[in-house]
Amino acid sequence: MVRVRVFDSRGELVGPVESPKVELSDDQWRQRLTPQQFEVLRSKGTERPFCGTLLDNKQQGVYTCAGCGLPLFSSDAKFNSGTGWPSFFQPIANENVATEHDDSHGMRRTEILCARCDGHLGHVFDDGPRPTGLRFCLNSESLNFTPSEQLASLADPILESVAAARQPAASGHNPKAGPSAAEEIAVFAGGCFWCTEAAFAQLAGVLDVESGYAGGTAETANYEDVCTGQTGHAEAIRIRYNPATISFAQLLDVFFDAHDPTQLNRQGNDVGTQYRSAILFADEPQRRAAEAKIAELAAARAFPRPIVTTLEPLAAFYPAEEYHQDYAEKNPNQPYVRYHSLPKACAVREKHPELMRGAASH
Ligand code: FE
Repeated sequence: MVRVRVFDSRGELVGPVESPKVELSDDQWRQRLTPQQFEVLRSKGTERPFCGTLLDNKQQGVYTCAGCGLPLFSSDAKFNSGTGWPSFFQPIANENVATEHDDSHGMRRTEILCARCDGHLGHVFDDGPRPTGLRFCLNSESLNFTPSEQLASLADPILESVAAARQPAASGHNPKAGPSAAEEIAVFAGGCFWCTEAAFAQLAGVLDVESGYAGGTAETANYEDVCTGQTGHAEAIRIRYNPATISFAQLLDVFFDAHDPTQLNRQGNDVGTQYRSAILFADEPQRRAAEAKIAELAAARAFPRPIVTTLEPLAAFYPAEEYHQDYAEKNPNQPYVRYHSLPKACAVREKHPELMRGAASH
């Protein structure tokens, strides 16, 4: 099984949902694919540059795996790289594109594959444009294109089986419970992750908070490199939460109370782009919610200075070294934690008592 995001019958990307891997014999693939598609997807071939049918496609829409139909890239992230192959700065969902080291042809490269059928797509390089700095270099033969107005036609059959599997739970002995909501993730950067992690870990509905790095590439996603301020990463946290208990909008409220969103590329004495204030949105609804929250706070003059929080598409989140995880909880007497992290967590507790774990529900 693999966890992926898929389109539903309204043409909206949903998930992640569990989907079986697509595993076929070479003969079965040959029946399903053209010889050119087979050569790329199953034999890791590369089409000649400037020859692919999707290179110059400028229509709005979604590129799916030609092998199994999984959505892989959106036209929103397509750019002209000049290389002769269709290029994107991020996948439509991180779950849907897998990577593997590829040392073939005397080069060290990172291969990209469809997460569901392991079809070869191309390679990813770290010389892409902002905001991710990544260049996903694709073969047209590995992709099919669906225009925006036809996204409902991509509705994945797996959703019907997910809905069917949920039926017994919905009609079980707790009629109020309803179908279990999928868990979701939110990624925020608000200065040192020891502080932001502690502020969110105490909230009801938050299943897990992980410290890590977002906004840069895998090669430099380590504390030493990120501390230089040169890698593009921000110290960030990834929050897994149950949207039935706490909403993304409520998480945003806490985010804006747990740090100072008016400081550009710093939080207090922590200075550098790695300490910038950023919301790394995972999808379009999160982006819209973040924009609306910032507009609301600005209209209410909630801060004495303008909010400088950036909205950045979430390309990848790299968990930080183990010793950074749960740092404030494990090191409550460490001076930075005592004077910076715990007071921020405490301020959130005072401002949002109703959101705390163990708060009386009504
Ligand atoms: Fe696939």
